[in-house]
Amino acid sequence: MMDAGVLNLVYRSKLKEYSDRLVELKDPKVIYVTDLVACSNKRFFRLQFPELTFRFEPILILGDLIHKGLELFLASEGYEVEKEVEEKYSVKGVDYVLKGRIDAFNSRESVIIEVKFSRTSQGVPHEHHILQLQTYLNLLKAENGILIYITPDRVLEYRVKNQPIDIEALIKETIENSVHPRWNWECRYCYFNRMCPYKKEELSKDTT
Ligand code: SF4
Repeated sequence: MMDAGVLNLVYRSKLKEYSDRLVELKDPKVIYVTDLVACSNKRFFRLQFPELTFRFEPILILGDLIHKGLELFLASEGYEVEKEVEEKYSVKGVDYVLKGRIDAFNSRESVIIEVKFSRTSQGVPHEHHILQLQTYLNLLKAENGILIYITPDRVLEYRVKNQPIDIEALIKETIENSVHPRWNWECRYCYFNRMCPYKKEELSKDTT
């Protein structure tokens, strides 16, 4: 057992994971699937101020642990967990790479599982989570998706069938930074809301 304690060990591990990604987070040729389902101006800010996105909070540690636990179980059931996906796209003659990480994938059953931990089940399933799962289904040409929500008082599962979506249009919006915000609740939870000229005041009830 190290002298610094468990908390310090977890913190160092998260900081290292983040530092290892820092170069990529600043690369304008890299687009994440999570960028496609969010406000395009968040990516614009992240490319300039990536350090502002590092967070070390109990709710995130809890979410990480729940992910890891469920992924361990799914791996024992034959799922490929934390599956990296990458696809190249060319927009106006410039090459980009779209990257994502799927929580669990079963190629034999053609099913993708995404796990979400949330403080509340209010408003689930959220549109951005469905769009994220639909993007993965399209990228892997998988037939079925399952969105699992774990909250302090509920465990819910939603089925999503593969439907074609225009990933290139989402990429174009993201690169051109033309959708800000994408969802009406987004500015409230945004790391960059104190410096953003597009920040919108709340339009309706929130979702996380
Ligand atoms: S404050 Fe709102 S519009 Fe600005 S970057 Fe954040 S989510 Fe986008």
